[in-house]
Amino acid sequence: MSVKVRFAPSPTGFVHIGSLRTALYNYLFAKKMGGTYLLRVEDTDQSRLVEGAIEGMLKAMDWAGVNHTEGVVLDENGKITEVGENGPYIQSKRLDIYKEYIKELLDNGHAYYCFCSKERLDKVREVQKSEGKIPKYDGICRGLSKEEVEAKIAAGEKYVIRLKLPANKEIKFNDIVRGLVTINTDDLDDQVLMKSDGFPTYHFAVIVDDHLMGITHVIRGEEWLPSTPKHVYMYEAFGWEAPTFVHLPNILNAERKKLSKRHGDVAVEDFRKKGYSPEGLVNYVSLVGWSPEDNKEIFNMKELEEAFSLERVSKSGGVFDTDKLNWVNAHY
Ligand code: GLU
Repeated sequence: MSVKVRFAPSPTGFVHIGSLRTALYNYLFAKKMGGTYLLRVEDTDQSRLVEGAIEGMLKAMDWAGVNHTEGVVLDENGKITEVGENGPYIQSKRLDIYKEYIKELLDNGHAYYCFCSKERLDKVREVQKSEGKIPKYDGICRGLSKEEVEAKIAAGEKYVIRLKLPANKEIKFNDIVRGLVTINTDDLDDQVLMKSDGFPTYHFAVIVDDHLMGITHVIRGEEWLPSTPKHVYMYEAFGWEAPTFVHLPNILNAERKKLSKRHGDVAVEDFRKKGYSPEGLVNYVSLVGWSPEDNKEIFNMKELEEAFSLERVSKSGGVFDTDKLNWVNAHY
């Protein structure tokens, strides 16, 4: 089976250097394996959308030379368009697809309607916290009968749809960077999969899309590692084969804290404006969290494509060092 990977940004603002690296590693892996690299826009959280963010993202990737051959692209007039047979590639255009698949989970008992109000849930969480517990849905709606659900819907009550996790079940998956990850369902929450506005949450949309788009390797930031057991559970519930997971370590600042805007430049656009060359930035970013087999440090894109391997992605966070970036950039 040929490799297929994706970069799946949410259009919520500027392009963080960490996103560039995630995109780059996906791109390099696809190139190395002779596979496909696609770009999908994850815009299911409508409250976080930023006008122009999709265009900004696509322009940044184009500037950096991290090019995809499937998914969302800009046409010659700078208009958002889509290429490929697995679309639409913008999640807000896929609502009918998610509705069809959530029905399957409801029908086979792996999901349920939840009518609890935000006020009640806030109170439950407060009590749980005061008892030193990790806040979690208390399961009140898990036992509603079909008739009760239908009556509530008919009465116009608002609802979400949650994943119905079984008690005390071990979920296991292998991560190329982290090795075997095991978690018990008792430590997980009944994740909301469909929101009351009819949009799926990230967690549901991502597994449906990765499956339907034929993604073989999910390469993304490690902030998603805690969510992956729920995703693996859903793959099992659907009877689908899960992709291989690769969670990349964070990019850190000199104080070994997560690199954020408060500590200086983090947006690809900042570096472009300061006159860094795209080749220099890509070369440097490739080395933050990955190391080649030899000590070579200056790579053009072709050389990176040949040298890159997921097995040499480091487990610990890579430090973003501006002096080193400048040194690399001076070669271009
Ligand atoms: N939309 C998610 C993000 O922007 C992508 C997570 C993933 O790659 O699964 O972080």
